[in-house]
Amino acid sequence: MHFPCKVSLRTRALKLIANQHPERPPFSRFSTGSTTKLVSPVNRPLLDRFSTLKVPPCSGFAKAVQLKQIHAQIITSGLPLHKLFPFCVESGNIDYARIAFDRARVLCKFDRNAMLQAYSKSAVPERALLLFREMLAVGDHDSGPDKYSFTFLIAACSRLDRSCNCHSMVVKKGFERDTFVKNSLVSMYVSFGAMEDARKLFDGMTEPGDVVLWTTMVGGYMKFGMVGLALELFDEMPDPNDVTWGVVIAGCVKNGRYKDALSIFYDMLQCTNVKPNEASLVCALSACAHLGALDQGKWIHVYVDKRGVICSSNLATALIDMYMKCGSITHARRVFNSVSSRKDLLSWTSMITGLALHGLGREAVDLFLHMLDVGMKPDHITLIGVLNACSHSGLVDQGRQFFHGMQQLWGIVPTVEHYGCIVDLLGRAGFIDEAVNIAKCMPVEPDIVIWRALLSACRIHGNLALAEEIMHHVDRCDPLDHGGSKILLSSMYASSNCWDGVARVRGTMCKQRIQLVPGWSSIEVKGVIHEFVAGDRTHPRAADIYQKLDELFNRLQAVGYSPSTLRISFELSEEDKEQAMYWHSEKLAVAFGLLSTEDGFPIRVVKNLRICEDCHSAMKAISRVFGREIIVRDRSRFHNFKQGSCSCRDYW
Ligand code: ZN
Ligand code: ZN
Repeated sequence: MHFPCKVSLRTRALKLIANQHPERPPFSRFSTGSTTKLVSPVNRPLLDRFSTLKVPPCSGFAKAVQLKQIHAQIITSGLPLHKLFPFCVESGNIDYARIAFDRARVLCKFDRNAMLQAYSKSAVPERALLLFREMLAVGDHDSGPDKYSFTFLIAACSRLDRSCNCHSMVVKKGFERDTFVKNSLVSMYVSFGAMEDARKLFDGMTEPGDVVLWTTMVGGYMKFGMVGLALELFDEMPDPNDVTWGVVIAGCVKNGRYKDALSIFYDMLQCTNVKPNEASLVCALSACAHLGALDQGKWIHVYVDKRGVICSSNLATALIDMYMKCGSITHARRVFNSVSSRKDLLSWTSMITGLALHGLGREAVDLFLHMLDVGMKPDHITLIGVLNACSHSGLVDQGRQFFHGMQQLWGIVPTVEHYGCIVDLLGRAGFIDEAVNIAKCMPVEPDIVIWRALLSACRIHGNLALAEEIMHHVDRCDPLDHGGSKILLSSMYASSNCWDGVARVRGTMCKQRIQLVPGWSSIEVKGVIHEFVAGDRTHPRAADIYQKLDELFNRLQAVGYSPSTLRISFELSEEDKEQAMYWHSEKLAVAFGLLSTEDGFPIRVVKNLRICEDCHSAMKAISRVFGREIIVRDRSRFHNFKQGSCSCRDYW
């Protein structure tokens, strides 16, 4: 049988050990020969090399054979039995460890604990509990559980996701004051999300606890969305290290607190004893990407360059992603080209996805083909990017080819996301029947994204009857209607003057107390992020902004723009509808941008929802009248307004 090179490395190491320690220890009936001599002293560096070796992936039989070889060598070289256990865990053969454990004539406490630890890491952590009970039953000082046994038991309980009374056992056996055991208990409660119990123990610690424990608590709060408590505890923390800072920044990003993430990142830079690690930099860049904070993102890029931070593939990908999402394709390309020699799949994928986001479908597809030419194999995320690119640019034939060929060409089985892309692509392009067919015949249940894509295809192509049918599926998948599908349907009714339909939808919305995601837009001016919601009057310059809006509206009307009020379906007077349109958050953000940036300076706005038709045509007009480039990133893509037209060519 031909084994991978790791095996030959291991065999060499084993031979080396075997040559140095040819004796066989007396403690096991597993010995491969008949002579028994005393345990020989262990060669430390060799042992270290030995312990870093891994069992390569191979068949169950091969694994068993290899384990036997390793076991034999451990015996021959006089190493203690527990050196065998990590190999058993890694090869998924914990039973072998147990057989060796049971057959051993002499077992020390260390062996028992190692077996406990092996169980806690194995696929059967519940057996750690049984072994622990056996240890309790023996009960004498030498073989009964000690503090290490408890930490392994707690680790097993964490894996099992239940405490199995281990806390009370700790108290009963008098280990509740042991810092080591307490730390494990806190981590266990954190892993369950039982943050109150964790906090009680944490607060009751007589010693201040170590940085790892604090970080575990802070990370736990972040993981379960308790950002306020996490930040409070973080403020109290005596000496956070770079990992703690990283956990806090990542937690803020995960919980959508992007501004907080950035301000904590800047606080970190002020500290003399810590330096941001790669994870913190990646998270800070991701916060910039979400906020569309180009200036701050550029600043971090300069920081990375000046500090000589090695631009790893992760960091390069984060930079490309940030530049793409902040609307600067040029900078993204520059980073992408600068990593030419060590471009990996991540960078290719983020570049392709970014181009798709900007509606540069052809370029994205060309880049994808180039990627294939240089021998890079795509993964399922790359394919999502490519299919999205085809979708945003109406490249129907190519999209079909990629979708139908992905399994055969690259061995990627289409997931629900890929189905979502192809349904969106076909629906937008007007092949609604084909899209519906794919949705109905797909091997997995279509998700809300797919139904919504079909619904918006119906809106684009004015197919009200099908929209009503699809709405039933939407209701089933997402009864709370987080995506505003009901608004979409009611606007379709409104545009065909079917006010009964509008009233019906509105009625259901009131009855179900549906809360729509509030729309907001943000704009970065001189490194500060300003956020607006519709009709916002909280901004310090609100009066100026509304005055600017009036001026805008007058100038736009002079060039023939008239508000399209179709999407406002409730029965307001036409003037009121116009007013409501006026105050959409993206218009407020653009008015503020016009007020506070110099002439000729592009205005970049990020919107959390899709831009509405009226704002889209208003932006086109503003870009012409004021001679400004306006870049709006909405929920699904970029719109680059220049000289009265948009990069999406009104196809979005
Ligand atoms: Zn709007
Ligand atoms: Zn557009």
